[in-house]
Amino acid sequence: MEVPLLDLKAQYATIREQVMAGIAEVLDSQVCIGGPKVLELEQKVAAASGCKFGIGVSSGTDAILNCLMSLEIGPGDEVITTPFTFFATVGCIARVGATPVLVDIDPRTYNIDPNQIEIAVTRRTKAIIPVHLFGQMADMDPIMAVARRYKLAVLEDAAQSITSTYKGRAAGSIGKAGCFSFFPSKNLGGIGDGGMIVTNDEALYERLMLMRNHGAEPKYYHKFVGANFRLDPIQAVALLVKLPHLDDWSEARRRNAAYYNERFAGTAVQTPFISPDCQTIYNQYCIRVPRRDELVAHLKAHKIGCEIYYPVPAHLQECFAYLDCREGDFPEAEKAAEEILALPIYPELTREMQDAVVENIVTSLR
Ligand SMILES: *Cc1c(COP(=O)(O)O)cnc(C)c1O
Repeated sequence: MEVPLLDLKAQYATIREQVMAGIAEVLDSQVCIGGPKVLELEQKVAAASGCKFGIGVSSGTDAILNCLMSLEIGPGDEVITTPFTFFATVGCIARVGATPVLVDIDPRTYNIDPNQIEIAVTRRTKAIIPVHLFGQMADMDPIMAVARRYKLAVLEDAAQSITSTYKGRAAGSIGKAGCFSFFPSKNLGGIGDGGMIVTNDEALYERLMLMRNHGAEPKYYHKFVGANFRLDPIQAVALLVKLPHLDDWSEARRRNAAYYNERFAGTAVQTPFISPDCQTIYNQYCIRVPRRDELVAHLKAHKIGCEIYYPVPAHLQECFAYLDCREGDFPEAEKAAEEILALPIYPELTREMQDAVVENIVTSLR
């Protein structure tokens, strides 16, 4: 049986008519930039995230970039984050001219290890970017405690964790701002690129709104140098159709995860650790296995979708050679990169498909 890692067509089939109607409405209105649909999405995503303000932006990457620019973080500043993340987190820090300072991960959750943050703080540190990887939030209480002690801004990279919670609080609502991505493979995926920033800080909200539009206020009078970080209404209408289903889809992912956990019990497969403080949305279901690359070859040969998130930690990327890190600097991130493997977890997955995934893995590991 063939099992894809993700099947976007299966989900689209369930909402096709509504998405098509929404697109037609935007096209008929010819409000093709901004407008009421973007505003409605901003309000709804902010509310779903326990925040007062939402700022629709062009991508998850631009959400992070806009936050860093709006907080005036730049050359001479340091920003603490994890080496085990999608490239954009560390890439944005570098793009504003600041220095990424990396801190190893907790090997159980793959999120930044809060116990190692304080020793990385210097007088140049301006912010911490915890990444809520795979759908599970980082351990925010100790992170916020360090941030308060040194007056650092916390930006939550919640690109993979929209509506997931930590001690009952939603992703994006604990730090100064939270960044979401609507990349199609995220839990709330658009029909192209898109993203959103949420915050409870009104002054920051106003700055983020201006920065999104070249720092102009009023039009053609520029307070500072911003960029075009706008979200299209065509994305907003598709996302508005999907948003009411998000909790059900996340619940289906959790059910699928529970079934995998049950079936992998007693095998060499290490299933994901979810902290009792967290409710995950399982953007990814990642196992750890010995001889991972042999397993990947076996699964590819049997048409079982899987993916390595992420094969190279940030400190070993060619473009960050100037950070002067070497192998062994962040041993837990490096070990995770060698052993981790994401399996199909999308809501429309059937039990039969999951059985095929499990049986192929168990056979290969035998
Ligand atoms: C997807 C992702 C981003 C970037 O989002 P885009 O919308 O693709 O720009 C940033 N950080 C993490 C952790 C992500 O998974």
